[in-house]
Amino acid sequence: MATERTLSIIKPDATKRNLTGKINAKFEDAGLRIVAQKRIHLTPAQAGKFYEVHAERPFYGELCEFMASGPVVVQVLEGEGAIAKNREVMGATNPKDAAPGTVRAEFAESVGENSVHGSDAPETAKEEIAYFFAGLELVG
Ligand code: UDP
Ligand code: MG
Repeated sequence: MATERTLSIIKPDATKRNLTGKINAKFEDAGLRIVAQKRIHLTPAQAGKFYEVHAERPFYGELCEFMASGPVVVQVLEGEGAIAKNREVMGATNPKDAAPGTVRAEFAESVGENSVHGSDAPETAKEEIAYFFAGLELVG
C-alpha cells in the first residue's frame, strides 16, 4: 500500500477538554505521522464551506455552529494507507457504534460532537489538505 496523506481535525468538544495530546498519541501509536498541525478558530462561514457536501443534511446548521464554537486543531497525517488507517483509529461516526479503543469510543460526546474529522477518500483528502495548508507547511 502506498504512502498517503489525510486531513484530520480535532474538533471543539475535544480541544475544550484538553484532549489534543491523548488523541495525537493514538494517531502516532497507529503509525501515522503528524506532518503538519495548527490550532485555529473557524468562523461559521469557514466551517460551512468545509462541510459544504453536507449542506442539504438536516444537521448541517448545527454542525457548522459546533465547528465554529471553539478552537480546532487541523493536521495532516501521513503513513501507509493513512486515509483508511485514520478512519480506523477514529471509529464510527456515532460513538455508540465505535469499536473499543477508538478515539470516538473513548472521547466522543455524541454523534455530532464526536471529537475528530478524517478525510474519506484520496480526492477529498487532497482538497481538504489544500483548504487548510500551503505546500510549504507540510513537512514529511
Ligand atoms: N453528523 C451529525 N449527525 C449525523 C451525522 C453526522 O451531527 O447524523 C456530524 C458529525 O459531526 C460527523 C459530521 O457531521 O462527524 C460529518 O458526517 P459524516 O457522515 O461525514 O461522518 P464522518 O465522516 O465524520 O464519520
Ligand atoms: Mg465524512
